[in-house]
Amino acid sequence: MKVLVPVKRVVDYNVKIRVSADGSGVDLANVKMSMNPFDEIAVEQAVRLKEAGTASEVVVVSIGPAQAQDVLRTALAMGADRAILITTEGTTEPLTVAKLLKGVVAEEEPGLVILGKQAIDDDCNQTGQMLSALLGWSQATFASEIELSGDMAKVTREVDGGLQAIEVTLPAIVTADLRLNEPRYASLPNIMKAKKKPLDTKTPEDFGVDVARRLNVLRVEEPAGRQAGVKVGSVAELLDKLKNEAGVI
Ligand code: AMP
Repeated sequence: MKVLVPVKRVVDYNVKIRVSADGSGVDLANVKMSMNPFDEIAVEQAVRLKEAGTASEVVVVSIGPAQAQDVLRTALAMGADRAILITTEGTTEPLTVAKLLKGVVAEEEPGLVILGKQAIDDDCNQTGQMLSALLGWSQATFASEIELSGDMAKVTREVDGGLQAIEVTLPAIVTADLRLNEPRYASLPNIMKAKKKPLDTKTPEDFGVDVARRLNVLRVEEPAGRQAGVKVGSVAELLDKLKNEAGVI
């Protein structure tokens, strides 16, 4: 069974985001970019399936600028077999990404698609669900455990206040949550080997998908700064402030 893993190039999670001066978005000049952390978990899971003999091939796909090759090479160094880059300019909305992924699925015919549960730049948490709807496939989101047997997948989902175990029929869409696994670091020899692995480049036109944006971002703002705290001299003063200033007791 082939496993397809979509990976997005996003601002590295360690970077302190700055809102651009005109409030239209995030300042991306000279900012470190990396693979979306949930997508690293998805790649790790697919590679583990291959190592266990359950998956026959792991194909990774990214939709973005030419520089998105870097995250594809990282995925190849982690153990993916082959990569596809669909080049686009600017940002792509989840529905556009889902439509392009539907085209990739039609060509590649994977038995399983593992996405990240969300991209940490737009925090949309939509692409996997939209892809599942477009394909008419089962979906298991927020996965913290995946067990494949025959044409079924048993997935443990992280839901509010606990875990939910579900079974879905394959082919299926799974989205990876934080506790699914701990992704490996790519070793230097594997980084070198990844340079020779196949990376195909395509365009949205190859899939007949219009990438024009349909959503307009009106304004992006920094969160309000936190006010400095105060030191109180006694429990009585604390209670007085909580009661008469904060009004919380
Ligand atoms: P989102 O719905 O934007 O929060 O993204 C959820 C998941 O969809 C990500 O973790 C990726 O697996 C996938 N995805 C979103 N955008 C892209 C993209 N431009 N290229 C490849 N995969 C993507």
